[in-house]
Amino acid sequence: MAERHPGGYRRHRRQPIGKRDPEERKQDYEEVWESEWDEDHLKEQGERCMDCGTPTCMSGCPIGNIIPDWNDLVHRSDWKEALERLHATNNFPEFTGYNCPAPCENSCVLAYNDDPVTIKSIERAIVDRGWEEGWIEPEPPQTRSDYAVAVVGSGPAGLSAAQQLNRAGHHVTVFERADEVGGLMRYGIPDQKFEKHRVQRRVDQLRAEGITFETNAEVGGNVPVERLEDDFDASVVAVGSQKPIDLDLPGRDLDGIHFAMDYLTQQNRRNARKDVPGPDIDAEGKNVVVLGGGDTGADCVATAHRQGAKQVVQIELLPKPPVERPPDNPWPDQPQTYKKTYAQQEGAVEEYCVDTNEFVDQDGDGSVDAILADRIMWEEGGAGPPQKTVTQSNVQIDADLVVLAVGFEAPESSPFEPLGVAINDDGTLATDETMMTNVDGVFAAGDAEMGPSLIVWAIGSGRDVARHVDLHLTGETDLPPSLETSNEPIVSM
Ligand SMILES: Cc1cc2nc3c(=O)[nH]c(=O)nc-3n(C[C@H](O)[C@H](O)[C@H](O)COP(=O)(O)OP(=O)(O)OC[C@H]3O[C@@H](n4cnc5c(N)ncnc54)[C@H](O)[C@@H]3O)c2cc1C
Ligand code: SF4
Repeated sequence: MAERHPGGYRRHRRQPIGKRDPEERKQDYEEVWESEWDEDHLKEQGERCMDCGTPTCMSGCPIGNIIPDWNDLVHRSDWKEALERLHATNNFPEFTGYNCPAPCENSCVLAYNDDPVTIKSIERAIVDRGWEEGWIEPEPPQTRSDYAVAVVGSGPAGLSAAQQLNRAGHHVTVFERADEVGGLMRYGIPDQKFEKHRVQRRVDQLRAEGITFETNAEVGGNVPVERLEDDFDASVVAVGSQKPIDLDLPGRDLDGIHFAMDYLTQQNRRNARKDVPGPDIDAEGKNVVVLGGGDTGADCVATAHRQGAKQVVQIELLPKPPVERPPDNPWPDQPQTYKKTYAQQEGAVEEYCVDTNEFVDQDGDGSVDAILADRIMWEEGGAGPPQKTVTQSNVQIDADLVVLAVGFEAPESSPFEPLGVAINDDGTLATDETMMTNVDGVFAAGDAEMGPSLIVWAIGSGRDVARHVDLHLTGETDLPPSLETSNEPIVSM
């Protein structure tokens, strides 16, 4: 067994699993990540972990992954045990190992004045190895209860809730309005970030564990909400938060202006060789403007590159963040610093402090040709919010295709609203401390409950809600709490 060197971080420099060359990868929809990694290299990276007395990385991970343990196990080549430790807190480590922004790494003690451990790469390597070796197998429950639970929505929150509830022995049916299971992991997140066979093999695993999936099944649409009350003892609403924020500006109704999700889903479907409903949105040969500087915007930029756009401009209203942490953003707070996205590495014009005024149809054919926007400057507003000043007005940017990626508000619909489920002011489902809505036996999880978030939070939320549902049904639970709820007593209320 390899002995762990206490100063491993001095012996090995941080080197995460890399990405493919930007020029090469933007020619295809295969994952941007390097597909191969070297075992000895990962073992060295695991040795960089200092095994601190207080593992701040674990508090940085929303699901409390037991990071120092698996760093050590990988260093010692005990990959199978590392996988078990990883699955103890995370149902789908590849969802996060490939796509988590890794807040844990920012919380790693080494990040205070050195480069953090490559936690996310190690997580990915463990689960890659688990699939390669055939260690990840269906784990159906030994015994079944008499309870039936419905899960509405099959994103990471719905799937983790379903797997946990099924492992507690309940009969679980997942309803999904789309034709495939997976939520944003399937339709939304582009293939170049997460290939869909990774979602499918988890679906196959869950099915083999005994979970029933009903696709093309929209609760509140072709599936009457009453069915959930009639056929199930409890329900989990995990319908996501996909209602897009719109920009009510002159020219908004012109052709060629689309929401990010419509754009991205179409490409997901093309890659899966499925029919593409609605008008074809294609960037080939076009001047593309993506409004919104966040991660969804980045996915649109990267997709436009792959479709062969002439030019892609990504526009952000706010200023470009600083490269280094400012004094008011110290470790271990999450850094509010600039990081080039994978999409920007592939080349696109980045514009900050730009405020769009209008979409313009120059030739009168009903399609957008350009946007007009102000260049602005943000200034401290004293006690109030920052104030903007226009530095250059009505700048014109060519745009044959505009993609709106300025954020999401709330669930598009709450299937349980007809039953009287209360909604918060922001449109998310209102729940109590047990994640139950005001309707007995109806729980909510994931983005539908939290608002737009991250995969790791959705997985954690699904795990938490499963524990609450199990407790509600049976008066006790063996399902583990996530980090967020680990101080709560596991007793019947
Ligand atoms: C483009 C994009 C890229 C992203 N990239 C990342 C990333 O790289 N890393 C990261 O951590 N996070 C990322 N996120 C965020 C992450 O995907 C979400 O936080 C996460 O998927 C939320 O999971 P969820 O299960 O709550 O909901 P969702 O994944 O949104 O799933 C909800 C599901 O419910 C279904 N549904 C809705 N209504 C009904 C109904 N009435 N009946 C039946 N089914 C219904 C929907 O069809 C959908 O499949 C990204 C988000 C987007 C939009
Ligand atoms: S899930 Fe995300 S935050 Fe947690 S250990 Fe993995 S990369 Fe880090």
